[in-house]
Amino acid sequence: MKKTGYLIISFIFMWSTLSCQQNDLTEILYESYEEYKEPSLKQRRIKHGDLQPLIEKYRQNPKFKVNTVGRSIEGRSLSLISIGNGPVNIYLWSQMHGNEPTATQAIFDILNFLDSQENVAEKREIFRNVKIHFLPMLNPDGAEVYQRRNKLGIDLNRDALRLQSPESRTLKRVRDSLQADFGFNLHDQSIYYNAERTDKPATISYLAPAYNYEKDVNEKRGNAMKIIGFMNRIIQKYAPGQVGRYNDDFEPRAFGDNIQKWGTSTILIESGGYANDVEKQEIRKLNYVSILSAIQTIAQGNYKDVSLDEYWAIPENDRKLFDLKLENLSYQLMGKTYKMDLGIHRMEIDNELHSDFWYKSQISDQGDLSTYYGYETFDAEGYSVIKGKIYVNVLDSMDQMNEASALNLLDDGYTYVRVNDIPSDMVNSPFPVHIISENYELPEFRLGVGKNPTFLLEKEGEIRYAVVNGFLIDLSKSGVHGCKNSLLLR
Ligand SMILES: [Zn+2]
Repeated sequence: MKKTGYLIISFIFMWSTLSCQQNDLTEILYESYEEYKEPSLKQRRIKHGDLQPLIEKYRQNPKFKVNTVGRSIEGRSLSLISIGNGPVNIYLWSQMHGNEPTATQAIFDILNFLDSQENVAEKREIFRNVKIHFLPMLNPDGAEVYQRRNKLGIDLNRDALRLQSPESRTLKRVRDSLQADFGFNLHDQSIYYNAERTDKPATISYLAPAYNYEKDVNEKRGNAMKIIGFMNRIIQKYAPGQVGRYNDDFEPRAFGDNIQKWGTSTILIESGGYANDVEKQEIRKLNYVSILSAIQTIAQGNYKDVSLDEYWAIPENDRKLFDLKLENLSYQLMGKTYKMDLGIHRMEIDNELHSDFWYKSQISDQGDLSTYYGYETFDAEGYSVIKGKIYVNVLDSMDQMNEASALNLLDDGYTYVRVNDIPSDMVNSPFPVHIISENYELPEFRLGVGKNPTFLLEKEGEIRYAVVNGFLIDLSKSGVHGCKNSLLLR
């Protein structure tokens, strides 16, 4: 009796010590993040060239081993950066889709942490138990032009069987040579995914991919699920409710599914959206904290205590988010008034160098959108949709425009300005009104799917809001609006 009591108490003590250690490091990682954030990687459109000075630094660093393990179709090097001495191999690869860079940035933050002189005891334990291998930016040719597919125009994540692309062959060869125990398959997903039946974006989504059509759970897949359960606890702490679980239908051509099948416990992490975090830097931080914590739990082995139920309890991914949702608008058509919701998406259009972007927005859906959500939602009950007008005077040049004059035009119901001499290299309007050329003919105004959302909202005979290129502008607040750009229509 006495002995049993002692055992129980010591078990509880051990358990709390373990989980305490874990929480401590997670919290330290979160609090001290800025010290380790790689300052040279600032926004999403990063290129192979941005990474090379960083990789070179680790090549010169005796703590790390850096190998060139392959080349892309256009000849860009693929590097594997390894650290640690333990018997358990962890393999992390990012950006097999060129326009999915969030985890690539996080990898360089993680490397900075692993290289630092801080938290020595925790790192000693990690390096004693595991060896960690990073392959950042698997698709550098795609990253160069910020596109999903590689130079061959194929989706690398459907090339795991046929292995036509050199990038795919490298990914597999490295996995095979390491006989990796754990794999982290790091992606970005659409920012419009939400946790099912909530307005919370799926900031992080997880999947322990199936390795057969039956979706069986063997020990390897089970371990991936447990690590996801463990990481979910961390994300829930910092972004409550903002985690989704991917559908686990077996895709025989995908890498995650095959790497799971080849015997590596594989964890898919998808970085989604987060309110007011266009460049996904907060999500990068969540990657950093949760992946490093996962590496620690693998090193300690305590992820095994996580129940599979925690994995299945994560809400499924859904895709029900808009950038802007307008509810209960009054819309007049052929002499009658209708109640309508609008769902607006702001599409990113890249500049020529794929180093920056501008927005071209569209109405993605309209009608009763009560089962959808918005990053920004506005209840327009009592507001009528009014067509925006073309400013009566034609301007000679862009010099005659500024931010304040544009907002004044909106007050008077003008959403378009005709300009004679538009610079030939101009691609968008820097002001919250559209710029149109001398001869541009405006199509007849109506709300419709695929149309650019530009109109005014009137209440009791007064124009109170403008919607220009999918941005809602409160005209009662002078000078404050979130409109990044409007359109240039030639
Ligand atoms: Zn992807």
